[in-house]
Amino acid sequence: MPDNKQGVAYVDHKLVPISEAKISLLDWGFLHSDATYDVVHVWRGKFFRLDDHLERFCSGMEKLHMQVSYSPDELKSILKNCVKATGLQNAYVEMITTRGQPEQGSRDPRSCTNQFFAFAIPFVWISKPDEGLNLIVSQRQRIPPGSIDPSIKNYHWLDLVMGQYEAYDKGAETVVLTDENGFIKEGPGFNIFAVKDSTLTTPATGVLEGITRKTVIELASTKGYEIVQGNLSEAGVLDADEVFATSTAGGVMPVTQVNSQVIGSGSIGPITQILKNAYWGLHDDVRYSCPVASV
Ligand code: PLP
Repeated sequence: MPDNKQGVAYVDHKLVPISEAKISLLDWGFLHSDATYDVVHVWRGKFFRLDDHLERFCSGMEKLHMQVSYSPDELKSILKNCVKATGLQNAYVEMITTRGQPEQGSRDPRSCTNQFFAFAIPFVWISKPDEGLNLIVSQRQRIPPGSIDPSIKNYHWLDLVMGQYEAYDKGAETVVLTDENGFIKEGPGFNIFAVKDSTLTTPATGVLEGITRKTVIELASTKGYEIVQGNLSEAGVLDADEVFATSTAGGVMPVTQVNSQVIGSGSIGPITQILKNAYWGLHDDVRYSCPVASV
């Protein structure tokens, strides 16, 4: 008997236990990574910045010429129903639109019927709470924005996954990829920030505009820190007082080693700690969070 606490998915207009959720082998989402998606989390029974996630998701669909037959309110209700069916208080909630499959014998994406899927599973942490990340800077290039618009959240992850293997070979846990000029971009599922003398630097281009990144930028400016959205070099990270990663899968996460070199004191830095506390504090603020039941 499948356990809904492992997760619940919405497939073919029905809720099913996650272990029973299946898609067609011929869906271009699977065959071509022709899909867009978003991930929102539920923390202590509340969605965090749900409208922002839906806005990014709908904008991605539009840019990819995809359409689904649900309004944003209907999408919210599907997500809510997935979470409610799991009974989880802390959940990782993913929504996906795939191209679907073309008419038989056709290669024309316009002949595809786009498909919507969603699921809720237990909360996912990129890095365990209270542990610092150990990462490497790889010279492997992140897919350039001239190739795939990174503001569309996408499954073009082979560069990131190969980077992870490079990190494991070097005894690290994860990786950040660079661009053709060697500037740091992002890692598998997270944005990156370096802090030096109370100034935060994060890459401006060639990255997903993360909702956690945006939240941190807003919080940091309220707290009077200077924020530079610009070029972040490997030397800039190695020389930083503090480094941290941001993601829906874990929030604000300290990075304590880069290329085997200890950053700062080797544990979470004071500014990272302030931003981390403020980030989780917003989860009780009605302007950012809404109870799953009230969606
Ligand atoms: N960059 C990439 C490539 C991602 O896939 C993600 C999230 O999955 C992020 C950054 C962080 O984005 P967010 O803060 O919206 O979770």
